[in-house]
Amino acid sequence: PETARLVASRVLDVPDFPKPGVMFKDLMPLFADGDAFRDVIDGIIAYHGRDSFDTVVGIEARGFVIAAAIAYASGVGVVPVRKAGKLPRPAYAASYGLEYGEATLEVHQDAFTAGHRVLVVDDVLATGGTAGATLDLVERAGGTVVGFTVVLELSFLGGRQRLAPRPVHALLTV
Ligand code: IMP
Repeated sequence: PETARLVASRVLDVPDFPKPGVMFKDLMPLFADGDAFRDVIDGIIAYHGRDSFDTVVGIEARGFVIAAAIAYASGVGVVPVRKAGKLPRPAYAASYGLEYGEATLEVHQDAFTAGHRVLVVDDVLATGGTAGATLDLVERAGGTVVGFTVVLELSFLGGRQRLAPRPVHALLTV
């Protein structure tokens, strides 16, 4: 609840970004505040338990910031899930529908060894398309998803329902 209040107090609403009619939630002020950022990272680790995961996956690009900090603080490694065409070696790809068109995410095929316990993190959960594709990719690459956390969940966009029955943990749900 204290971390939720902290997140709420640092998130900025940016109207009409990236296009008219969309209210973009900007978490950069939260990450730019050292004490707040540490609370966010520590809060995510505490929720799952430091010894419950072997790797942290971050979703391009803001998820990288969170994933790297969690991984470092927990003494584990970090793996990126990237937009199509960015990874240099053989990768699995997963596509999902956007309002207009499609997006594709990729993960290296050798990113995990069998039984690897993977914590997946991102900044914002909206419709759940990005997270759904990412969780599928982690499993296809042999990882076992043990948790999925976002800093901010926009519940009116239905991401949690789309991902069900997989559990979603959010530091703040609006
Ligand atoms: P979804 O696929 O619709 O759930 O969108 C989630 C993805 O888009 C995440 O990777 C977020 O970083 C990004 N995203 C969507 N809406 C916002 C927002 O309001 N603020 C920041 N990121 C957002």
